[in-house]
Parts: sequence; structure tokens; C-alpha cells
Amino acid sequence: MLSNQNLAGYATFSFDYFLNGGIISCTCPDCGSDIRLPIRIYQSGKLVEGLADVYGPQLIDELVEKRIVNIKDETSSVHSNLRKYILWNMDARYELISCKGCNNLFLSVFGMAELQPGREEVQFKGIWKIIR
Ligand SMILES: [Zn+2]
Repeated sequence: MLSNQNLAGYATFSFDYFLNGGIISCTCPDCGSDIRLPIRIYQSGKLVEGLADVYGPQLIDELVEKRIVNIKDETSSVHSNLRKYILWNMDARYELISCKGCNNLFLSVFGMAELQPGREEVQFKGIWKIIR
């Protein structure tokens, strides 16, 4: 289960932000430690489908219910090369981040793609605490 609060907010970034060393960060709500998410272009993140192997299908259902990720439209040609769980026209990816100060584990959701020639975007959806 995820906390209701998105600790990092939603934002769209250019690839350049991360190529120039930019990171996403927030604060652990329980111990105040820095939670840092560096994003390496075309390397970071695993497909959201894989969360089912780690946490069972419930966590993915929760992401869909909260509209953090969408299920692709199988009838849309725009989506034909995408996986099942998407953001806006790109595959949904995740990274788990452990807090260095306590036992908390956080889920981040984002995607990255060249949507049109020259328009490369990282769509960052947020960071949530995983409640175990
Ligand atoms: Zn902590």
C-alpha cells in the first residue's frame, strides 16, 4: 500500500536536466533524511509490470486507481509500441528508494521517451512511501 501523500510532486523535465546532473529529491516524513532519485537517461527504472513480482498485483491496481499510471489503449495506434502500463504516451517505470536514516521504502514512478523528434521528456509522477 502507498501513502496518500506524494512527497515529491509531479513534473516534466527535459533530458538535459538529468544529463546535467539534476536529481529529484524529497524528505523522509519519518526521520527527515534526504531521499534522492538520480535518473539516468534510458537506464533508470524498471517497467511497472514488474512490481507484480515484488508486491503482487495490488500495488499496481492502486497505481491505476490513483491515476498515477494508466492502462494503455489497445485500440490506439499511438500506443501500439507501448507496454501495458503507461504515463502520457510512454511506458511507466519505477524505482524503489530506501531511506538511509530509517527502514522506510519509497516508490518513485516516471517515464522517459522522445515523444517527437527533438522533444525528449522525463515525465515524473512522484514518490510515495510504501506502507508495509
Ligand atoms: Zn527515514
